[in-house]
Amino acid sequence: MPSVKKSLNLAANGNLMEFDAIVIGSGIGGLVTATQLAAKGAKVLVLERYLIPGGSAGYFEREGYRFDVGASMIFGFGNKGTTNLLTRALKAVNVSLETIPDPTQIHYHLPEDLKIRVHRDYEKFLLELIEHFPQEQHGIRQFYDECWQVFNCLNAMDLLSLEEPRYLTRVFFQHPMACLGLVKYLPMNVGDVARKYITDPTLLKFLDIECYCWSVVPAEMTPMINAGMVFSDRHYGGINYPKGGVGQIALKLVEGLEKAGGEIKYKARVTKIITEDGKAVGVKLATGEEFRAKRIISNATRWDTFEHLLPAAEMPPSEKKWQQRYQKSPSFLSLHLGVAADVLPLGTECHHIVLEDWQKMELPEGTIFVSIPTLLDPSLAPEGCHILHVFTPSWFEDWRGISENEYEEKKEAAAGRIIERLEKIFPGLDAGLDYMEVGTPRSHRRFLGRDDGTYGPIPRRKLAGLLGMPFNRTAIPGLYCVGDSTFPGQGLNAVAFSGFACAHRVGVDLGL
Ligand SMILES: Cc1cc2nc3c(=O)[nH]c(=O)nc-3n(C[C@H](O)[C@H](O)[C@H](O)COP(=O)(O)OP(=O)(O)OC[C@H]3O[C@@H](n4cnc5c(N)ncnc54)[C@H](O)[C@@H]3O)c2cc1C
Repeated sequence: MPSVKKSLNLAANGNLMEFDAIVIGSGIGGLVTATQLAAKGAKVLVLERYLIPGGSAGYFEREGYRFDVGASMIFGFGNKGTTNLLTRALKAVNVSLETIPDPTQIHYHLPEDLKIRVHRDYEKFLLELIEHFPQEQHGIRQFYDECWQVFNCLNAMDLLSLEEPRYLTRVFFQHPMACLGLVKYLPMNVGDVARKYITDPTLLKFLDIECYCWSVVPAEMTPMINAGMVFSDRHYGGINYPKGGVGQIALKLVEGLEKAGGEIKYKARVTKIITEDGKAVGVKLATGEEFRAKRIISNATRWDTFEHLLPAAEMPPSEKKWQQRYQKSPSFLSLHLGVAADVLPLGTECHHIVLEDWQKMELPEGTIFVSIPTLLDPSLAPEGCHILHVFTPSWFEDWRGISENEYEEKKEAAAGRIIERLEKIFPGLDAGLDYMEVGTPRSHRRFLGRDDGTYGPIPRRKLAGLLGMPFNRTAIPGLYCVGDSTFPGQGLNAVAFSGFACAHRVGVDLGL
């Protein structure tokens, strides 16, 4: 009987090799941590369960189309300030990406035929919004200008670990006003700020969907710090699409990681974080292999980390408390469509949000998100065709425990309902379909390794802004978390922030 190889990572002298840091997962959060640490001289190993890097920012190819798995609206690729974290992460390991500026962040198609475009140009956006709500013109300006105050504080300083006292002291003496500004906004939510200036109920609902489309909760529950970033950076660094598709970001980070001496292994599913005397010291793979490191960093969600990679029964009290405050958001039903180019009316924007009934904004199949990246980079589809990535919230529970036949039928029926709704914006969509692949919360769980396929954590109730989001250290010595279940939350630029912060904290702990 073949014996299970326990420790294959032997150095040339036959001794067990120890890494400075092992990163579980190659999402953007994990890769930014790994590249930052490698750039500081750390010996880093990334273990990725899938075949390629990127996680929710990965890609797949079918019949001449290159589809983004998830993210398509990319913040953080600006070329000025400090909040352009994707640009900075790539640069730190001497790689770069060509990007294509998107002139419009979103075209909203809302109830009662309310259509609003968020232009890259701030003034143009404000004027379009004011045209719909002229009585609120002062409130609109005051609200969005206050978001800029948050952004300007963030954009004044290097974004590193808020768990590192020497950094905090330095940054405070360098930028005292910006720091005080952030302390003021940290416990605030968007709804409270918006209601200081705005009373029109429809405009307040518009601000709900402005938040919901990235935080998946309404303004009342969306932290002001995140809104400051999103509502301002879209006009500052702008939304920029990476040439060749979103998957290029992870591929480039891996190239940079390897250039800096780091390693990545694919098809390397971690099944266990090994602890000794209560300290994280290594990981075990599904193959039985074990790897050890001075520091272990999990890019899996907190639910996966503390319920599956560590014994759920021994969950630290701080994690239990976090789970009482935050719950898993729904996953998505995703339609990856290839369509004939003439389906898109002339002047169609890249990103759309569709909602016909305000009451249904947060319900499954309520809000529909559409991205058409081929409008920016036609090379992602065969000539004469476009990609439509369409997704809408869907709960894992609704797809559990059904037979394969029922599953396929349910997928087809759901896709049909979504396409029918989109026909109003893209007439002829159904007839113009060239390719369709439907993903469900089950696909998100299977391919992304995320518990219940969740998009990430959302507050169970109204919380004090971002105060409750944990940083990178955990209650288990030697174990850190990075990615969307750490401060400041979901989105590529946000998880890149988490990666910078995590690498900074780990670097200091390693004495680098
Ligand atoms: C449909 C959809 C649309 C989105 N749209 C946008 C958008 O337009 N703009 C935007 O900024 N954000 C968007 N997001 C959110 C954004 O993609 C995520 O917040 C971000 O990519 C999460 O990054 P992460 O590093 O936290 O983790 P993930 O992307 O989840 O990566 C984690 C990685 O860890 C690996 N892994 C997990 N467990 C293990 C294990 N046990 N062993 C080894 N490897 C493991 C996974 O395979 C994965 O590669 C979208 C997300 C989705 C799902």
